[in-house]
Amino acid sequence: MVGITSYGAYIPRLRLDRMSIFQSMGWFAPAVVMVAQGERSMCNWDEDSLTMAVAAARDCLTGVDRSRVDGLYLASTTLPFADRQNAGIVATALNLRSDILTADFTASQKAGSGALITALDAVNGGERHQVLVAAADRRETKTAYFYEMWFGDGAAALCVGDQNVIAEFLGSHSVSYDFVDHYRGAGDKYDTMWEERWARDEGYAKILPEAVNGLMDKLGITMDDVDQLVFPCFFKAEHRKIAAMLGAGKGKVADNLHDHCGETGTAHSLLMLTKALETAKPGDRILVAGFGQGCNALLFKVTENILDLKGRDGVKGCLENKKTIDNYPKFLTFRELIQTEMGLRAGAPAQTAMTALWRKRQMLLGLVGGRCEACGTAQFPKMDICVNPGCGALRTQQDYEFADVPATIKTFTADLLAVSVDPPHCYGMIQFDGGGRFMADFTDCTMEDLKVGLPMRMVFRKRSQDSDRGFVNYFWKATPVPGARERMNRIHFDGQVAVVTGAGGGLGRAYALELAGRGARVVVNDFGGTRDGAGSGDRSPADRVVEAIKRMGGEAVANYDNVATVEGGENIVRSAVDAFGTVDILVNNAGILRDKSFAKMEPDAWDAVMAVHLDGAYHVTRPAFAVMKEKGYGRIVMTTSAAGLYGNFGQTNYAAAKMALVGLMNTLKLEGAKYDVRVNTVAPLAASRLTEDILPPDMFQKMKPELVAPLVVYLCSDRCSETGTIFNTGMGCVNRAAVMTGPGAAIGDLAHPPTPEQIHENWARINTMEDAKPLADLTSALMDLMTPVQ
Ligand code: NAD
Repeated sequence: MVGITSYGAYIPRLRLDRMSIFQSMGWFAPAVVMVAQGERSMCNWDEDSLTMAVAAARDCLTGVDRSRVDGLYLASTTLPFADRQNAGIVATALNLRSDILTADFTASQKAGSGALITALDAVNGGERHQVLVAAADRRETKTAYFYEMWFGDGAAALCVGDQNVIAEFLGSHSVSYDFVDHYRGAGDKYDTMWEERWARDEGYAKILPEAVNGLMDKLGITMDDVDQLVFPCFFKAEHRKIAAMLGAGKGKVADNLHDHCGETGTAHSLLMLTKALETAKPGDRILVAGFGQGCNALLFKVTENILDLKGRDGVKGCLENKKTIDNYPKFLTFRELIQTEMGLRAGAPAQTAMTALWRKRQMLLGLVGGRCEACGTAQFPKMDICVNPGCGALRTQQDYEFADVPATIKTFTADLLAVSVDPPHCYGMIQFDGGGRFMADFTDCTMEDLKVGLPMRMVFRKRSQDSDRGFVNYFWKATPVPGARERMNRIHFDGQVAVVTGAGGGLGRAYALELAGRGARVVVNDFGGTRDGAGSGDRSPADRVVEAIKRMGGEAVANYDNVATVEGGENIVRSAVDAFGTVDILVNNAGILRDKSFAKMEPDAWDAVMAVHLDGAYHVTRPAFAVMKEKGYGRIVMTTSAAGLYGNFGQTNYAAAKMALVGLMNTLKLEGAKYDVRVNTVAPLAASRLTEDILPPDMFQKMKPELVAPLVVYLCSDRCSETGTIFNTGMGCVNRAAVMTGPGAAIGDLAHPPTPEQIHENWARINTMEDAKPLADLTSALMDLMTPVQ
């Protein structure tokens, strides 16, 4: 069976917000606003068609035995060299064998699909067994032009072979016409376009259907036999119309990626095909067409092998790894569409001597270093002597490819004085796993993205350009692994133990799940009573949360004790110590309500609420604090309420208990400070059974407990150094609440005690909260009172 064996894609990380083109140039070309939606991909200053082709090919070669590749076809109309085979540079960068056929396909938008058919024919004929087809384009347009909006930069790569086929090749049909909707003269930078309706009506709308229908006739199928129709066409309405004309409804025609990327020239039909393959199921038939001076149409049938193809970025990964900019002058600078003064140093000749380039080609283009046969030390560059001082062996270096070896940053700097198209120039020492390091330029990142220890990957990029001689120097640079910085920054609780009271439902459940999801081992306490604290013994709420944590791969135990008793508190903490050995985090969350107006507030309702909220926090915190003090670390979160902080009709018991917790925190923060035990308080606002009859239904929907959990989880983390602070939080908003003290007024002294009349006269000064401040403790409050504003 012959067909596609692997796929890969590359879309540059940078995206230009199309509206920024209009914002800068709308004064000149107001009509471009009509197409100024979404974003287009744009190369960094050090990227071109060749570097993008290498990136897509590397993605495609993930898990592929490179020694089996016996052909490399490169398609593009924007290749850096008119006479130096570009495919040869790509093959050297990929460290492919030298006894292979390399060829450039160019001069038409259908060169990508043409290269693919040629590769399939070569394998079909038995002449070759594994051909890599890469296509890339970085087309230029003049500024403030529709095509500038429609075009994007990108690349795709497909391996075509006779083993492990993921999409069987069923046939192709081509039509060839010298139809000139646009052209680029030899040596010209920009395309000359003919009228859009000419390209649309005479070109796309006639030639594309002719090729597709020709293929279907040849294979004896109809559009009903096709699951996905893939063809580029940047005229949005025309794309839809042609699909409809061919009998392909909305669900069958592949998205042309206009909103997120733009059209990537010769690469685009292959890029769209790659995207289709990413979600295809075995048995799906994909018809792909590439337009340009005629049209190529090909049909594939997806096989079971596609299920085994994993671990590549593909179009999906590339679309996710993005940085959107609205800096249009930057786009123009990167593409040399405006001339920037680069300074004297930039004028030095940059062309590598061709002799050195030949001798060191593996090192420069393939990032091949050496590894000592005697001691296994890896080094870059490869030399005659092993760099290991304990070895120093002579001529023992074997070739060692560094390009795919994981690496991390050892040191880095951002240099504002170095010549750079995108200052500051970031570079530093890269440490490869398993040994080997070198000073590398960094790309696709800013100073703020960098951190010692950050995982990096190597990318093939332009190092410099000698414009006088039309020569581009390529080398390898380091770039942060997508998502690595976020993973490094992620707050986690690996090795820590958390106790959450009342975690069987509502807010406590959300806290427990989030803490466990970030690595904490959790004691899920819940007494299982009703909303007013009556009843007990229902173990299911706590059990369900423990099951949910275990299902997501976390660790948790249930505890059903009542926080309102001394033994209950001790048992809860003992559960943590017995099951996990310690307690690092305590969230006092259990709560009930027994609302009554004060006149009807019987002692039962008063005592029950005090017992759960205030006594409960005391009972659990006391044994937990003992463990934390002993180990010199702890994070405690109390749960207050806006009812306590500000008052709420019918909740005197609840408000008193909740405000008492603030008092408990104020003193515990002082006693815990020396042991790194930090205590904070949250006043949450969330949908739960406590609030279901208080809140209007539409508000209730928006107030998920998950929107409160992030603050609580942060307060539970070692990243949080805050202590003794109160926060209101709900619906994704957080603010600080505090007991504030105003500047006050000195009205009298021992010799002249203030009179009630003077108090009355100074009422406004006494009450002012202008310049009010929170005070750290009683002593500070005393000092503050003794030194009032005169
Ligand atoms: P909830 O009723 O869903 O959760 C409280 C949990 O505590 C229940 O699962 C309950 O079984 C458990 N519980 C009650 N008494 C217990 C006891 N003696 N021992 C052990 N567990 C017990 O309510 P929720 O809204 O998630 O409330 C959580 C906390 O947040 C409470 O302290 C509440 O006062 C406070 N709070 C909530 C809001 C809000 O908007 N939901 C507002 C302010 C304060």
